[in-house]
Amino acid sequence: MRKPIVAGNWKLNGALADNESLVLGVLDGMPALEGIDVAVCPPFVYLPQVVRLAESTALDVGAQNCSEHENGAFTGEVAAPMLADVGARYVILGHSERRAMYGETDQIVSEKVKAALAAGLTPILCVGETLEEREADETEAVVRRQLAAVISGNGIQAFDRIVIAYEPVWAIGTGRTASPEQAQAVHAFIRGQLADHDAGIAQSVRIQYGGSMKPGNAADLLAQPDIDGGLIGGASLKAEDFLGICRAA
Ligand code: PGA
Repeated sequence: MRKPIVAGNWKLNGALADNESLVLGVLDGMPALEGIDVAVCPPFVYLPQVVRLAESTALDVGAQNCSEHENGAFTGEVAAPMLADVGARYVILGHSERRAMYGETDQIVSEKVKAALAAGLTPILCVGETLEEREADETEAVVRRQLAAVISGNGIQAFDRIVIAYEPVWAIGTGRTASPEQAQAVHAFIRGQLADHDAGIAQSVRIQYGGSMKPGNAADLLAQPDIDGGLIGGASLKAEDFLGICRAA
């Protein structure tokens, strides 16, 4: 009932020639991927290139961040309407790297979600705990707080147009994946948090897992009842690996 969604987060990687071969490689495998949504999220400057390469195909394109502001004196920022203008459909928001390295608070992430929704984009809202927080048994408290900010800033109905990505920070880029059981437990918890506000939205919202997902571990993670896809970093930079995960979805 929930359509799986797999998105590639290229992070700070890419070059015109590399992007072209990567996207063409992914497009080669797309016909076999009916019934799932697939997107790639390159750095801002490559969005027009990747949108053009993916034009008239089933491959969607997303950005990795946006400003909470619509326009104005914000040097170096990129606004959500600009992303929509060049053909992006998704925008990753609140990624742990943004929260940890660029000072994005729950409040700012909520404002970015608002800006993205107003521009007609689908936010991929990232939540997740650090290793320290997990070891202190704070996983649920952290995820609850991160979600609560977006619910209070945007209303529960906004989750009709939001994809959630649960990304345990200790699993990102570390090769250390959450076990299917660990991931499922938090995914179910997230759905439960939304169900406290609206049972229908909780059932329909798609929740991706992210953190060292690879072709070899994707099937077991994606077999969990509350895991609806993946947000893929490292393994999204090779078409074969990315397609392998998509096929598992
Ligand atoms: P990873 O990154 O797959 O390289 O762990 C996932 C992410 O940060 O979105």
